[in-house]
Amino acid sequence: MARIGFVGLGNMGAPMARNLVKAGHEVAVFDLSAEAMARVDGASAAASAAEAATGAEFVITMLPAGKHVREAWLGAGGMAAAAAPDAVLLDCSTIDVAAAREVASAAGRLFLDAPVSGGVMGAEAGTLTFMVGGQAEGFARAEPVLRAMGRTVVHCGDAGAGQAAKACNNMLLAISMIGTCEAFVLAERLGLSHEALFEVASKSSGQCWSLTTYCPVPGPVPGSPANRDYRPGFAAALMVKDLGLAQQAAGDTGAATPMGARALELYRRFVEAGGGETDFSGIIRMIRDLQPP
Ligand code: NAD
Repeated sequence: MARIGFVGLGNMGAPMARNLVKAGHEVAVFDLSAEAMARVDGASAAASAAEAATGAEFVITMLPAGKHVREAWLGAGGMAAAAAPDAVLLDCSTIDVAAAREVASAAGRLFLDAPVSGGVMGAEAGTLTFMVGGQAEGFARAEPVLRAMGRTVVHCGDAGAGQAAKACNNMLLAISMIGTCEAFVLAERLGLSHEALFEVASKSSGQCWSLTTYCPVPGPVPGSPANRDYRPGFAAALMVKDLGLAQQAAGDTGAATPMGARALELYRRFVEAGGGETDFSGIIRMIRDLQPP
């Protein structure tokens, strides 16, 4: 079992750290919020992020955004300087590809970007998917630790490749969800039942995860958020964050992603109208409202 420092005990980080404790690891935790510090029974409370990193074989951050990650690792009293030279450093936050590469390069040792998908439920159940970028040696050492928190662990390439995979996947998800919502709304205008559209599209070329697992209308997929008034799930505000990161990456690389740009516009509008805490499939309501009478 390993000594692990874990920093950032929010909605995702706290259950992830609990799963590390459950797997028998010795975990030292730190969060700026005292309330968050109390969320991980069985872990020892560090007085600072640097203290959590000191003496650990693996050091993990799960923080809101790139600026927090940069500051925690590289700022004054930063964790990169405090960690042992042979420790594996991991950032599981969702941040922009450029910041992930910058932090990994400045840390100058085994450093992995390892963002997740699966949400709070996946974090609690230990079934997250980890998309990992960074050195093969770091990945080989970290994989068993990640498996205590997730079911699928994929090495995507060099530094930043994990964040790149996350940005591409979530842009695709947003586009496919909007497309699925538009198909149901068009079916409504045509007098075609939700059930008939689902029955056909789920078995033909329109088939996708947004339809078959996360269906945005109630009925065809009983577990989807549409059946519980679009309670998340995956909140639309987080989708706006991820689409923003994808557009930032597109801008940085000169990639044209017209549908990704449009998806960001539509999700921003949904969030500005008060939908931020609604599941992202709830955008079907806004698409219905766009219809002329
Ligand atoms: P959160 O806001 O609930 O938690 C972030 C925690 O970090 C807070 O407890 C905060 O006090 C702490 N923190 C901030 N700066 C700190 C610092 N310098 N030192 C120590 N602690 C600090 O966020 P979350 O929902 O847990 O998400 C964390 C990351 O995971 C984000 O990057 C998010 O995009 C990503 N993510 C979230 C979900 C989800 O469903 N919530 C799913 C996939 C990925």
